[in-house]
Amino acid sequence: MSNSDPNQLKPETLAVRAGSMRSQFGEHSEALYLTSSFVYENAAQAAARFAATEEGYIYSRFSNPTIDMLQSRLAALEGGQACIVTGSGMSAIMGCCMSLLKAGDHIVTANALFGATTTLFNTLFARFGVSTTYVNLTVPAEFEAAIQANTRLIYIESPANPLTEVADIAAISKIAKAHGVVLIVDNCFASPVLQQPLALGADIVVHSATKYIDGQGRVLAGAVIGSAQYINDQMYNYLRSAGPSMSAFNAWLLLKSLETLPVRMRQHCEGGLKVAQWLEARPQVKRIFYPGLPSHPQYAISQKQQTGGGGMIALELKSDSPEQGRERAWRLIDHCKVWSITGNFGDARSTITHPATTTHARVGEAARQAAGITEAMVRLSVGLEHPDDLIADLDRGLNW
Ligand SMILES: *Cc1c(COP(=O)(O)O)cnc(C)c1O
Repeated sequence: MSNSDPNQLKPETLAVRAGSMRSQFGEHSEALYLTSSFVYENAAQAAARFAATEEGYIYSRFSNPTIDMLQSRLAALEGGQACIVTGSGMSAIMGCCMSLLKAGDHIVTANALFGATTTLFNTLFARFGVSTTYVNLTVPAEFEAAIQANTRLIYIESPANPLTEVADIAAISKIAKAHGVVLIVDNCFASPVLQQPLALGADIVVHSATKYIDGQGRVLAGAVIGSAQYINDQMYNYLRSAGPSMSAFNAWLLLKSLETLPVRMRQHCEGGLKVAQWLEARPQVKRIFYPGLPSHPQYAISQKQQTGGGGMIALELKSDSPEQGRERAWRLIDHCKVWSITGNFGDARSTITHPATTTHARVGEAARQAAGITEAMVRLSVGLEHPDDLIADLDRGLNW
């Protein structure tokens, strides 16, 4: 019940308008329907709603007008037919996989992966007989080589956390289609403003909306976007039965967040590029990873599939040993006054993280090595502060 045709309008307009519904009171800003259940005129209507012979709201675990507005807006921004939102990014990933997998199935994914996703695959899914093969995100042929008779999913992030490696989504999609495998892309780093994986051939997009989509570090949220058939059938049934539901209050906050997403992303890209260019010229920096810099190993692909470099930067400091690497990384972090020391990213406030000892501590040394995450590595999320202030802060921490 969207009041706008997603095919006609530009992303800036969709971010503000798509999916809005008005009640009989004519409110301008979207209403917050903070109610667990909905009432019926009579018993027959209740029966008709439960039998799905009459459209209408039933219970907020799986149907709520504020949530519907958010789902329509996110689907429009990703260029997808339908969307289901969940209480966190992990519950979106979990739900998406649970709605598609059964015992005995196999996942092909990349070494470069959000830490909790690796843990989900290796510990929880392994217990239920789902196996996983990890390959190099940047080599499509490795995905093809890893496909087995029981492979059901290819799961990737691009750009990936934390090193911003970029996958050739169109090439991996061709492989997935040739083998009848579902391609899921976690679009959290880029946001739908910078990249639309469905248009590149992905079947399903998942989000941690906790990051850029909220963009203000207030809520945990997730989203799954895909075909109406998949979302309204498998994913809806999972949501209704398993209940990883989002609160209507959080959905209402996210509707407000989305209004500014395109403007914020433009600013994150501008600040990200400035900080990345400055860091690249520092003698203390061994390597820098930013998809908007020509030195990025997958710069050509990122230019083709993203409309901006984003706000995420990873850098590796020069060091003679892992111990010295950690010491220098922590020194940089501890000298920051403006940057927040936290694991979150995609926030208006810039954040600085040491992945090896925080976000990627639980995955273990072997997985960190495979993903190229060293002790000397620092992850930056460039926020909306003035880049000069952010650079001055980093400059203090690079004096050794
Ligand atoms: C944060 C994050 C997640 C998990 O999302 P939560 O909202 O924290 O549950 C998944 N994937 C990526 C790439 C992330 O950065």
